[in-house]
Amino acid sequence: MSDSCCTGKKTEPNAAASPLDHFRRMIPNCLAYAREAKAQGRPIVGIFCEYTPREIIMAAGAAPVCMCGGSDATIPAAETELPSNLCPLIKSSYGYAVQRSNPFLEMADLLVAETTCDGKKKMYELLARRKRMHVLELPQKPDTPAAFDHWLREITEFKQALENLFAVQITDEKLRAAIRTMNQERALRRCIAELMTADAPPLTGRDVLLLKSSISGLCADLAQYRGLLETMEGPAAPNGKNANSVRILLTGVPMPHGAERVMDLIEQAGGLVVCQETCTGLKPILEDVDEAAADPLQAIARKYLRIPCSCMTPNERRLESLDALVAAYRPQAVVDLVWMACLTYSVESEQVRRRCEEQWRLPYLKIETDYSPSDTARITVRVEATLELARQKRAASPGRTQ
Ligand code: SF4
Ligand code: SF4
Repeated sequence: MSDSCCTGKKTEPNAAASPLDHFRRMIPNCLAYAREAKAQGRPIVGIFCEYTPREIIMAAGAAPVCMCGGSDATIPAAETELPSNLCPLIKSSYGYAVQRSNPFLEMADLLVAETTCDGKKKMYELLARRKRMHVLELPQKPDTPAAFDHWLREITEFKQALENLFAVQITDEKLRAAIRTMNQERALRRCIAELMTADAPPLTGRDVLLLKSSISGLCADLAQYRGLLETMEGPAAPNGKNANSVRILLTGVPMPHGAERVMDLIEQAGGLVVCQETCTGLKPILEDVDEAAADPLQAIARKYLRIPCSCMTPNERRLESLDALVAAYRPQAVVDLVWMACLTYSVESEQVRRRCEEQWRLPYLKIETDYSPSDTARITVRVEATLELARQKRAASPGRTQ
């Protein structure tokens, strides 16, 4: 995961696989990488949230692996210890631990948790009985000076904890190298997302969602991103084929690997998700860490505290970010996805709905669901009604893209 291969120069991605095929093999690719890292004595660090700065883990020589569960299959096991009326993401992640069925989790040397929502926070206490854990205490009024001071202390203690646990020194030089790698990854993923601003986007939202890994900063992935952009932007760029679909901005909760059902339902019904304001989409990659900052640790703390998650109060930055994304991606409707029992995103939906209907003047659909397919027919009907409304608005104002 050094940045020596991540130079930003033109690269030769694996000719045997198209970028989309490469990422369809994301889990086996990441597993092979993690096993090799482990064999070389590099620690595996599991993370559950975009507030966890991967740069510090990378600078410690460890591999940060996302452990968020997207599978329905692990939920019954989780419900033997957790209440059933809990967010499916939390239950799925924990169910893997109960079943011992996530090989990344089994090989992890450390898990990093964070104080975001209550359900996760309390689940981590149970998970800590199975695995060594470090908890980052995240302040929740992000714009106050005291919040930044507190977060910087937490980040500094996290760095020291990794140094002690893994017997390494995390120098500024190592931090800067990790920052460069992560900034490159964020920039490449932003460029891919921006392809969807076209009137006839060359990818689907599902394609864009596919183009990410459980392990960040892998040189093979960065090469694939560059290869894809070269194909899309060169003279042989494919013509976009999605001009007539209803352009959708998807906001709300993350869609971990395996939990893409709502995305599929939207796109099968004739929508095209042009923008994903979620933690598996643009939310954590819209801003970079300042590479020129005198203190790289401070720069990392500053970037991460600005992520506009609904656990923050107030979370005005999410609405500001949505304003900018609506202007750039020109959606014709907004779908707000909320996992069942996710109170923060569910309550915040009211603010998104008002902004959507009063300011952007777009049809708005809130979908509250879990990982079970039992409500698929009901969701499809509601999505189709929203798409129809958007088509009618489009027909009433031809030439107007939002
Ligand atoms: S939505 Fe919030 S709690 Fe979930 S991964 Fe993103 S920042 Fe973390
Ligand atoms: S989706 Fe909501 S309830 Fe679930 S882990 Fe994220 S913030 Fe917590």
